[in-house]
Amino acid sequence: MNTLPRKGLSFARRMHVPRSVGLGVGFFVVAAAVYPSHPPVWVWVAMVLHGYGWPHIAWLMARSSKQPYAAERRNLIYDSLAGGFWAGAMGFNPLPTVTALAMIAMNNIAAGGPRLFALGSLAQGVAALAAYWIFLPQLFPVLTQLQVYACLPTLVIYPLAIGLLSYRVALQLSRSKKALEKLSTTDSLTGLMNHGAWKDLLATEFNNCRTFNRQNSAALIDIDHFKTINDTYGHIIGDNVLKQLSGILSASLRETDLAGRYGGDEFCVILPDTTVAQATDILERLRRTVHAHTHATFPDLKLSLSIGIAAYGPHLDDAGAWLHEADMALYAAKSTGRNRVAWAMPGLKACESLSAAVE
Ligand code: GH3
Ligand code: MG
Repeated sequence: MNTLPRKGLSFARRMHVPRSVGLGVGFFVVAAAVYPSHPPVWVWVAMVLHGYGWPHIAWLMARSSKQPYAAERRNLIYDSLAGGFWAGAMGFNPLPTVTALAMIAMNNIAAGGPRLFALGSLAQGVAALAAYWIFLPQLFPVLTQLQVYACLPTLVIYPLAIGLLSYRVALQLSRSKKALEKLSTTDSLTGLMNHGAWKDLLATEFNNCRTFNRQNSAALIDIDHFKTINDTYGHIIGDNVLKQLSGILSASLRETDLAGRYGGDEFCVILPDTTVAQATDILERLRRTVHAHTHATFPDLKLSLSIGIAAYGPHLDDAGAWLHEADMALYAAKSTGRNRVAWAMPGLKACESLSAAVE
């Protein structure tokens, strides 16, 4: 059985309420306008059916269609045809005609933009001429007091219904936009910031440091021999380790620190207003915590981290150069034995400049 949501079902559902409200109050507009010409009974029956039955038939038709969106657009054209028909039957009595046709046109432009508006206007014109030809009513009859009052509920209630609907759609759109923005900057496995979002922040922090002369440190953290963990315990446990590490990372850092997943088994942190010595203390504590951590299911699964730190300095040309220094420090931590924190010393050549805080 096909359980995929059919395109436009929510659109059809959204149109059901304003159509019911609009045609419910619109009935009085048409009834007051055709009453003086004493139309035959079938016209009254058609008016009642259109006002109070059609909104639900339209919804049922769209709901049971394989293509609800197309079915609902057809329904909107039927609305325009019906509106035009009643305008012709009313002899184009100015106020009821403008009230009915303008409300339908507003609906069309809100639901389908200028294209549906143009199509709907054409349908209104054709149906109006046909109805005028069928009924041959008095053209532009004198407006009665009753007809003015019959138009007022439609003129007030229907725009309110459309306004409320538009507000709800705008609200829903803004929520979806926020959710999408969050999704696009979040790493789906760990819930930390993803690579792109973190690098954008690094660039922002770099500019802040340059402008306000602040002392920030950036660090890259890589799990040692993670391939072996995957090979020994499987990728699901590997994923689980990545999640646990991101939890420990978030818990060990300050609220102002900015942690992300750089990719694979590599994590990244910006430590604002932190010297390289302070960053080393913080990350050394993290390294020890992770090393002492015992996996609940596999107690023999031991984790160690290699960490490279680079402080911002005026010698750096851009955020890329800053990241490169942290990367070089990480490389030094790896190449001097892993399970350690290393930091870059500005002004010296990257590989020579690194020292390691070995346990
Ligand atoms: P090193 O000490 O030099 O860092 O050795 P390593 O084995 O950790 O090597 P490296 O960092 O290059 O390997 C990272 C591995 O992480 C490779 C890849 O199979 C694995 N990996 C990357 N992303 C994921 C993931 O999302 N889940 C799991 N389970 N493994 C991943
Ligand atoms: Mg690794």
